[in-house]
Amino acid sequence: MTDVTFESLGVAEPILRALAAENYTIPTPIQAKAIPALLAGRDLLGIAQTGTGKTAAFGIPLLQKLSIGHVPPQPKQAKALILAPTRELAVQIEESLRTYGRFLNLKMTVILGGVNQNTQIRNMSKGVDILVATPGRLLDLVQQKQVRLDAVNTFIVDEADRMLDMGFIRDVRKLVAFIPKQRQSMLFSATMPEDIARLVHEMMNQPERIEVAPQGKTADRVVQKLFFVPMAQKRQLLSELLKDAAMNRVIVFTRTKHGANRVAEHLARTGVVAEAIHGNKSQNARQRALDLFKTGKARVLVATDIAARGIDVDNISHVVNFELPNEPESYVHRIGRTARAGGEGIAISFCDSSERAYLRDIEKLTRMKIEPVAHDLPELTAEQKAQAEEPRRPHGHNRGGKPGGGHKPHGGGGHRGDVAADPHAPKKRNGSRSHWNRTRDSSARRAGGA
Ligand code: AMP
Repeated sequence: MTDVTFESLGVAEPILRALAAENYTIPTPIQAKAIPALLAGRDLLGIAQTGTGKTAAFGIPLLQKLSIGHVPPQPKQAKALILAPTRELAVQIEESLRTYGRFLNLKMTVILGGVNQNTQIRNMSKGVDILVATPGRLLDLVQQKQVRLDAVNTFIVDEADRMLDMGFIRDVRKLVAFIPKQRQSMLFSATMPEDIARLVHEMMNQPERIEVAPQGKTADRVVQKLFFVPMAQKRQLLSELLKDAAMNRVIVFTRTKHGANRVAEHLARTGVVAEAIHGNKSQNARQRALDLFKTGKARVLVATDIAARGIDVDNISHVVNFELPNEPESYVHRIGRTARAGGEGIAISFCDSSERAYLRDIEKLTRMKIEPVAHDLPELTAEQKAQAEEPRRPHGHNRGGKPGGGHKPHGGGGHRGDVAADPHAPKKRNGSRSHWNRTRDSSARRAGGA
């Protein structure tokens, strides 16, 4: 594995140049396995999530395939279609593909819900090589005959389990019906619930199966800190911690959209530039918040789990779990926002008395005990105590239900305490990632396509 280079995998020169400019020296494990299989024309099932380098794993062979003997696309057509569950992920995929394909002359565009469709129709009028889309809006435009999928020869579904969680699988199936059967297909998913397995069976032809499970590994590389702190003091503690200038690019997670807004407002009041990102915001507002954060104009991004899924921002110094997630898998996703691509990061969790059960679930899943750190905040005032003892509103604490910012990676119904059945459980880790992790110098790496 140590001798594997992008060149040895068969990647062509203009793409090699783009990768070198991004400081991608060693292919990640999923890239090392996927690139040759895809260049050979195989279908691919990738059990992997964001952070493994999967975008380049499918993006590089795709760009290469489209650039060989390139014929310009026909009006309204796309030669390759990539479906993503969230608008942020779709934008990010396109940005990454532009980065890896910057020395190629390929046309790409994004189709997303939540924004005016006219620009998207215009962008498709002359056709594109690569179309990245969220399923709902794309289906809409296909039905309006503004987009044609009859020339798609490469079809990629990213974060399929998230599609399922968000109720997009029917739209995906409908879209598949518009795509020619003769094609190369790829599907990526962090977990493999039954519905996804069925979709794989329907849409793929003897796929090469590649599994990389870095989640537990990610947790190993993140320094995890825990504060036991009443809800009433969490904002104060956050402000105290933010006095440390080392916290220069911070994602704060809340369970609910409302919570995200409240924390962002609190920070703004205390002079910290913070942006909130969640599902209630318009696409433009979300993108603006993300851009401000990526460019360092906002020091803090306050996010819910769903909104943060797939967000790829490099060099995040700290992740703060302002509220613990009620799904332990979300904890691993959250802290994986720091320590990207082999770097190291710090995750700080606030846990109040009502969240102890969530903490136990997290420790069970990660098979790690998080040692609490003492804080020196003053004792609660009588008023704060009374507030802390008020019964909590149910929405963030409904373990069986679906709170605003939560998610359910297993397609519902699964028993969450069952670590053995969980695809993120450490026992399923595959050790092949370590060479990449160990040899990477995170500070040397630039924002790849992000
Ligand atoms: P992804 O899983 O595609 O979201 O990628 C996760 C992060 O890893 C992104 O920031 C990429 O820019 C970065 N990345 C992907 N492949 C490599 C590589 N071979 N070397 C260094 N960084 C990479």
